[in-house]
Amino acid sequence: MNAPLPLPALDEIREHENEMVALRRQIHANPELAYEEHATADLVAERLQRWGYEVHRGLGGTGVVGTLRVGNSPRHVGLRADMDALPIAETSNKPWASKVFGKMHACGHDGHTAMLLAAARHLAATRRFDGHLHLVFQPAEEGQAGAKRMLDDGFLKLFPCEAMFGMHNMPGLPEGRFSIVPGPALASSDTCLITVRGKGGHGAMPHVAVDPVVAASSIVMALQTVVSRNVPPLEMGVVTVGAFLAGDAPNVIPGEAKLRLTVRAYKPAVRDLLQQRITEIANTQAAVYGASAEVEYQRRYPMLYNHPQQSAFCQRVVTDWLGAEGLLANAEPVTGSEDFAFFLEQVPGCYVFIGNGVGSEGGCMVHNPGYDFNDRVLPTGASYWVRIAETYLDRQAT
Ligand SMILES: [Zn+2]
Ligand SMILES: [Zn+2]
Repeated sequence: MNAPLPLPALDEIREHENEMVALRRQIHANPELAYEEHATADLVAERLQRWGYEVHRGLGGTGVVGTLRVGNSPRHVGLRADMDALPIAETSNKPWASKVFGKMHACGHDGHTAMLLAAARHLAATRRFDGHLHLVFQPAEEGQAGAKRMLDDGFLKLFPCEAMFGMHNMPGLPEGRFSIVPGPALASSDTCLITVRGKGGHGAMPHVAVDPVVAASSIVMALQTVVSRNVPPLEMGVVTVGAFLAGDAPNVIPGEAKLRLTVRAYKPAVRDLLQQRITEIANTQAAVYGASAEVEYQRRYPMLYNHPQQSAFCQRVVTDWLGAEGLLANAEPVTGSEDFAFFLEQVPGCYVFIGNGVGSEGGCMVHNPGYDFNDRVLPTGASYWVRIAETYLDRQAT
């Protein structure tokens, strides 16, 4: 069988492919969880310094920002990668599999870091742009809002980007092709804990108790009407009760029941509506049964909104380079979430997916113990970053 053809990449990036693959595998073998990315941050900072970047450390704890200024243009652009791994035990058995039991790069952030570093090296060697280039290596993308912590620590005061760009691999999409969705591209992700309080008692004497299990069951059923009856039919919303916790004996009516929810939306107005209706339903349904409900609603990641002008820019960069086939024609929003959304709330920009491959070649979904970043995609992703930076900070631009 013939080996598959290499994916498109800039020649100078291809020259360093072996080194890029080795670096990706080194990061993969040594995964670090959110806010613990010390060795990874050391590695990133050391490389950036070696190539002539001004390096700023400590934003968001373990975040690293490398800045390179070329020419006199006042323009600033930020490119972002993430560095954290997940608390999953790897099952791949590959030679570069995680050396740390219970931790692994199951979301490909090892690949993201390696691609941005390869671009960093190239951009510093060739200096074919005019302006300030900020390369952002953020901690804690996985549920711990590292991007928000970098912003809270003054990221935009130190590095006032006029646009920011992000990229994530996506298994199931053809390798090295790009999915770009202008507008809402990923959902907001909130959690909600509903504690239903009744009055515990003997299972044989329900008439002198207030049963929180029945009240909570009624809440679960009523919540099914939020998306079907309250959210406008053309809008997207998800309300999932992922956990129902109550009681531990057949003959005891417990004093309380707990529900844990995940809540998703693509628009702020829908997000507000979901929070409002969940709260109203929990309170009124509990009251019907003589119980009470406490609703603790936590807003976690906002929806990720790709700004139209910057989305069109990214689409143009891909098609000018790879032709129309570089872009996936039927790109669709996904209901996952991503904390790059915090950057895009403050700064216009665009977050794209690069295909990690299908089937046995990169098709295993992220967050699965058998997942691995597809090394064939590295040169294409690194070349994308180079094209984005050089086009955005084009010397010829007025
Ligand atoms: Zn992930
Ligand atoms: Zn990820």
